[in-house]
Amino acid sequence: MAKTKVPAIDDWFRMDFAEPQLLGSRCTECGTYFFPKESHFCRNPNCSGTNFEEAPLSPRGKLWSFTNNCYPPPKPYMAPDPFVPYIVAAVELEREKMVVLGQVEASVKINELSAGMDMELYLETLFEDDDNEYIVWKWRPVA
Ligand SMILES: [Zn+2]
Repeated sequence: MAKTKVPAIDDWFRMDFAEPQLLGSRCTECGTYFFPKESHFCRNPNCSGTNFEEAPLSPRGKLWSFTNNCYPPPKPYMAPDPFVPYIVAAVELEREKMVVLGQVEASVKINELSAGMDMELYLETLFEDDDNEYIVWKWRPVA
């Protein structure tokens, strides 16, 4: 029987496999974007804004940095057991120019990556249990 696909983290991204988007927030005063969402005080030191609107973020960006992760991440991040090493990418979003971390699609090898390349958001299973597949955003090179 097919397992139900559910987000590994609620409300951090749109569960749309064709057009996934991270869900950040934007200060209505100064326009600064935040991811994960900021909802109390604007972290821009020159702004006293306290109002935020939900902001779907660019699904594309430039690869800024990347590394191999050979150790399970600390809580609250969840990792499959047994642990499988993965690549972490820092991608500068096309429009917001903010850097968002994420795993790289499992089939991508580290020697296929180079700084500055175009990356796109992609939804993939992070881990599963008897009932569900837990989905998270990942980055992959634009084909
Ligand atoms: Zn602000």
